[in-house]
Amino acid sequence: MGNAREILIGKPAPAYGRLRGGEWEKALAYAEGYKQFLNAGKTERECTAEALRMAEGRGLLSYARHNKAVILIKRGRRPLSEGTRIVAAHIDSPRIDVKPYPLYEQDGFAMLKTHYYGGIKKYHWMAMPLELRGVVVLRDGTAVTLAPDADEPVLFISDLLPHLGADQAKKVLSEAFPGENLNVTAGTIPSEEDGDEKVKFAVMSLLHKRYGMTEHDFQSAELCFVPAGTARDAGLDGSMIGAYGHDDRSCAYAAMKALFDAEDPEYTAVCVLADKEEIGSEGITGMQSAFFDTVMEDLCAAEGTALRTCYANSFCFSGDVTNAFDPNFADVSDARNNARLGHGPCVMKATGRGGKSGSSDASAETMGKTRRLLDGAGVCWQMGELGKVDQGGGGTVALFLARRNIEVVDIGVPVLNMHAPMEIAAKIDCWELYKAFSALYADR
Ligand code: MN
Ligand code: MN
Repeated sequence: MGNAREILIGKPAPAYGRLRGGEWEKALAYAEGYKQFLNAGKTERECTAEALRMAEGRGLLSYARHNKAVILIKRGRRPLSEGTRIVAAHIDSPRIDVKPYPLYEQDGFAMLKTHYYGGIKKYHWMAMPLELRGVVVLRDGTAVTLAPDADEPVLFISDLLPHLGADQAKKVLSEAFPGENLNVTAGTIPSEEDGDEKVKFAVMSLLHKRYGMTEHDFQSAELCFVPAGTARDAGLDGSMIGAYGHDDRSCAYAAMKALFDAEDPEYTAVCVLADKEEIGSEGITGMQSAFFDTVMEDLCAAEGTALRTCYANSFCFSGDVTNAFDPNFADVSDARNNARLGHGPCVMKATGRGGKSGSSDASAETMGKTRRLLDGAGVCWQMGELGKVDQGGGGTVALFLARRNIEVVDIGVPVLNMHAPMEIAAKIDCWELYKAFSALYADR
């Protein structure tokens, strides 16, 4: 034994300083592309459109469902009966959805009623610039897209000034910001026409002029408020990215890029970008939907292979972010077993809550294969659990792959401020995640 300590003792180490031969420059270039993707995709629809655009001309099979979920496939040398290599990530992120009858006027303001989507800390979304994005299907069936430019007016949810916040400050957090009060302010100028609710009418007139929509068209709309602004470098050293939607577009982008760059894969490479993860992966665009099975079944049928055989021989990385150890909130984590920012992507054997409830809990064999893949490709990676035992928890799409008899394990970048309008990820972790997904697609 040359150095017994090095051989016998092992714990995660920072990824910095381990990149050689211009790789840091590659990581920085990768981060620029990722920021562009984040700016182009602030909703699952926008991510879908951007993914399909990016996939064009690359000789891939591509499938989209309801403009909100995507499957991209690069055929491998081996038949589907020998399985595939899958990365599954989600492209929906927590946000503030618009209600069916949203627009009203109160005390001289035109306001919009909302219903939040996914798990948010409501106060994060108040007193900050928001934009209205999504799709309205008009009475005649025409779909109109709302995608404001960067220089357009922002909208906002007002919060109470501290000067009058004494009563609010006495409340517990879960009661201080009722979801029903997340009303967005949309305008203040009254219409010059006669009638009541002149400000509401003026705002509706604006929407009609611009998008051809009437108040009835909110009935067939999918509109949401997302943070305004673009992805920014964070830290004085610019080592991190502050942006809306790292969860889970960091994994979605890495999966796509790895698929694009996979050269002559041995196994058919599959990239799934699913919707609805933040509300339980339900719906026809969620990972529980038959969309994925239908696509795979058609491909298997063309080869005379049973879908179940293909699934049983497949291997999947469920790409999803985890919490990064936060020195400001160290007491929610087991410091020895929580992912660290800048230490590469975190592999999660188990997620869920309580006694691993709601988790697919990968086997030792699956972890063994994962180790060999990642170490073999020189990926800097770590393992972790989301916070202390019994502190809380979270889920991913992994269990829905496992239910299909597909071997699966979770892996994703550690994130600070998860589910906040500005989440933080380290550039080096995003890069190492791309390397991890590339290693899966390069499996021989
Ligand atoms: Mn997620
Ligand atoms: Mn999430």
